[in-house]
Amino acid sequence: MKTYIVGNWKLNFTVGEASIYLHKILKNLPAYRDVEVVVAPSLLALQPLSLQVDRRKMKLAAQNGFYRDYGAFTGEVSFSQLRGIVDYAIIGHSERRYVFREDDKMIAKKVEAAVRNRITPILCIGETESERAFGETSDVIRDQLMGGLRDVSDDDLDKVIIAYEPVWAISSTKASKLATPDEISEVVKLIKKNLTEIYGAKLADEVPILFGGSVNPSNAGAYLTVPGVNGLLIGGASLILSEFIDIIDTAKRVRS
Ligand code: PEP
Repeated sequence: MKTYIVGNWKLNFTVGEASIYLHKILKNLPAYRDVEVVVAPSLLALQPLSLQVDRRKMKLAAQNGFYRDYGAFTGEVSFSQLRGIVDYAIIGHSERRYVFREDDKMIAKKVEAAVRNRITPILCIGETESERAFGETSDVIRDQLMGGLRDVSDDDLDKVIIAYEPVWAISSTKASKLATPDEISEVVKLIKKNLTEIYGAKLADEVPILFGGSVNPSNAGAYLTVPGVNGLLIGGASLILSEFIDIIDTAKRVRS
């Protein structure tokens, strides 16, 4: 299985800035066959960047998309419109869940629409700080995982990526709010167990599981060596050229 390094640029960079930044990343990045590098710029930048990106080195992801293909849905962009522009889409990010109130039902429809349009969904799941404190982590993980994959058939499971992103560890500056490899390992096992229960071990084993939550060049190596972790979803550090390249290099090193 490849190692995935996914940079989520969130609401950062104008189209011009995004284009310059992409150019710099491409200049510093060899084409690694076993490391899949993906960046998720803002929606507005996707189309021009799709003409600029060298897909042998890097792929593009949408940060969101709408599940209906067309119609009276003011302000939305559908996965059918994104088809051909992006290879991946981040779905169910905690900011979509908690700022924009997306629930598992809506997330499931988005996952289905992405798969239908040949875009690989990166389904984000993860517990909040209080859910962890109340011992609800395993229930939350199961509900978000099974809720999000509700409409994914056995045949389509290999078109899906799961990202475990504990909400409490996202954009954290405090060491105490960083997930430890043991904490991640425990949840990754839980994800595999749930996938196995529904889809069987053979199919479940093929699903890449990424970790996200304040990944930076000094913790990337440790996170990438957690058993069952197949890559990283990175916010803040993906906006800094040297850090993003460093993490990609770490991924390459860890694999070899
Ligand atoms: C994210 O938003 O998906 C994320 C993991 O952000 P950060 O790396 O900044 O914590």
